[in-house]
Amino acid sequence: MNELATTKANIAFQTNPQTDRKPSVYDLSPDKLTALLAEWGEPAYRAKQVLHWLYKELASDFSQMSNLPLHLRERLAGTLTIGSIEVIAQKVSSDGSTRKVLLRLRDGNTVEAVLMLYYDRAPVCVSSQVGCAMGCTFCATGQMGFTRNLASGEILEQVLFFNRWLREHPHRPLAPSQRRTRYTGRAAGDKGRRPPASMDADAWHVPDGASSSGPTEIASVTNIVFMGMGEPLVNYNNLWSAIRTLNSPQAVGLGARRMTVSTVGIAPQIRRMSHEDLAVNLAVSLHAPNDELRSSFMPMNSRYPIADLLSACHDYVEATHRRITFEYVLINGVNDGLNLAHELAGLLKGMLCHVNLIPLNPVPGTGMRATPRERVFAFQKILEDAGISTTVRIERGVDIAAACGQLKVEEEAGARRRTLNPELLTVHVQADLAGTL
Ligand code: SAH
Ligand code: SF4
Repeated sequence: MNELATTKANIAFQTNPQTDRKPSVYDLSPDKLTALLAEWGEPAYRAKQVLHWLYKELASDFSQMSNLPLHLRERLAGTLTIGSIEVIAQKVSSDGSTRKVLLRLRDGNTVEAVLMLYYDRAPVCVSSQVGCAMGCTFCATGQMGFTRNLASGEILEQVLFFNRWLREHPHRPLAPSQRRTRYTGRAAGDKGRRPPASMDADAWHVPDGASSSGPTEIASVTNIVFMGMGEPLVNYNNLWSAIRTLNSPQAVGLGARRMTVSTVGIAPQIRRMSHEDLAVNLAVSLHAPNDELRSSFMPMNSRYPIADLLSACHDYVEATHRRITFEYVLINGVNDGLNLAHELAGLLKGMLCHVNLIPLNPVPGTGMRATPRERVFAFQKILEDAGISTTVRIERGVDIAAACGQLKVEEEAGARRRTLNPELLTVHVQADLAGTL
């Protein structure tokens, strides 16, 4: 008798990651899984059932698939695993709206993923690689160097991890009467307590026109940003396999518009993406308006200079009619001069785009600091006056997401000092929330 068929749920997550070498079912696209079952002589509806169990019921063991015949459950369990990631540390913001986890993959490597709870959505920021080879000097992941690409199933599993978590802990946004105003950022001329439209809306901010009773609860991930560790466009094939499974109605079923790929600017891969049949959102980490400055802290710029990058972006906009987001991390005294804001405005003029201004989340050892708020808003105003739409991400969530890599660094430093105890590792980060309550 097959052991797996009789054991309790979750056994797949307890399997020794070092010894279990069966392929992960999540690495199979819905089509490949369907083909495999057809090869095994199973009727066509069986694949639909398995996919339903995997992606809708979020089964963690083939033995849970109760409407499959025992022989099929056994054969599946003997051939494949249902994932293998395991949480080894997590950070939760003090209001619970941002949850960052460090996940161990089955070869022992670790990556980060972040869930952000907003009023009306629950996006997840996922990693695409262990480490990163791009070497941006302000980035914690860049400091680690490159270890390996994630398999498409490992990318998917980060989303499924949070789908499981949200199923257990559905997000119930507070009705306006129960909310405390949390906004303290002040854009120039903003006297009220609500964020200006150009601020990143936080968990309790009700978008204009939202019903006062609040949306229904959110029990699964609503958006995905490929903005965690690694450069997604150098892991192109696995990224796109994951995107397809995430998009497939038979699997996760998230629309392409709900997915955003963030890139350091690998121009040829942006062009390649413009030929894909799914038009996902594109975010480009620009961070500087000229090559000299950009290359000084983003080495990849020498390979794909700004003109080449922007021409690829134009191609993307033309092919997809999607507005591109340019990310601009503001580093004190490095790329935040107001002359650079004018230069940036000139560079982006006439393009279908949006600029996200993100004060640096400082990485210890780099000596770099965040731009002070007043300068952030002065920088923003120049762009807005030039007709470029902007967002300032100051408060939380994306700040943590943007600094993906830091939990891994902290965790690995900590692990050298003590024995792992996941309970002790659940810490509450106050820093990014200081002054926002
Ligand atoms: N490699 C991709 C996606 C991962 S990085 C890219 O570079 O776009 C995701 C975003 O976080 C990028 O915009 C990156 O520049 C930003 N980022 C990295 N380190 C940061 C830090 N310390 N503070 C703020 N943003 C950071
Ligand atoms: Fe890699 Fe992005 Fe970090 Fe640059 S910012 S090192 S591309 S993860």
